[in-house]
Amino acid sequence: MAKISENLINIQSDIDQAKENSKYGQDVTIIAVTKQVSTERTKEVLDNNIFHLGENRPEGLLAKKEELNDKAIWHYIGSLQTRKVKQVINEIDYLHSLDRMSLATEIEKRAEKPVKCFVQANVSGEESKHGLSREEVIPFIQSLAEFSKIQIVGLMTMAPNTEDESVIRKVFSDLKQLQQEVVELQLPYAPCTELSMGMSNDYAIAIEEGATFIRIGTALVG
Ligand SMILES: *Cc1c(COP(=O)(O)O)cnc(C)c1O
Repeated sequence: MAKISENLINIQSDIDQAKENSKYGQDVTIIAVTKQVSTERTKEVLDNNIFHLGENRPEGLLAKKEELNDKAIWHYIGSLQTRKVKQVINEIDYLHSLDRMSLATEIEKRAEKPVKCFVQANVSGEESKHGLSREEVIPFIQSLAEFSKIQIVGLMTMAPNTEDESVIRKVFSDLKQLQQEVVELQLPYAPCTELSMGMSNDYAIAIEEGATFIRIGTALVG
């Protein structure tokens, strides 16, 4: 397994290049997706000054959180079952997978303070992917007005499984456009300034299309 510091050098240079190609001039934050690695390896991530960590199971997140120092910023990136909300909602800093009213209702009930949420969109329409369709995103966000514990910081998506770069790019640029539409609504609970998109194989494209959070697993920690 390569050292994280070495992986990071390559990733950072790709990020810098992609930012130059982006017309948005945005800041980009790396979320190290540690769902498949040990606490030991996760500690190596923190030692390299990457403090944003992504997990997709309550058990994995809670176990790592207990063993690691409190500098980490925790992102829950997986689909979250309603019955598991109470286990994690007060342990995380960001939720990337808000995709239904029943989940919002449970968060409202269980959260002790407002939670920074990304609405997950399935822009490509791939059946295997979670998330709201393009058309559903804005009505869903508008329906959250009465929820005091939910703050919509941005939109999240996963690109389809394809080698075709133009298809991936279109998904990311569609999400960017949708995010701008939400910003224009000027909803106090939905500033929606962030875009969580791009993984190991497509983060450069995502940054070129406006990503502000990229979720990197294998290329960084694998
Ligand atoms: C696993 C996962 C990632 C990271 O994927 P890599 O291809 O390993 O970089 C990013 N986002 C989500 C939602 C994931 O489940």
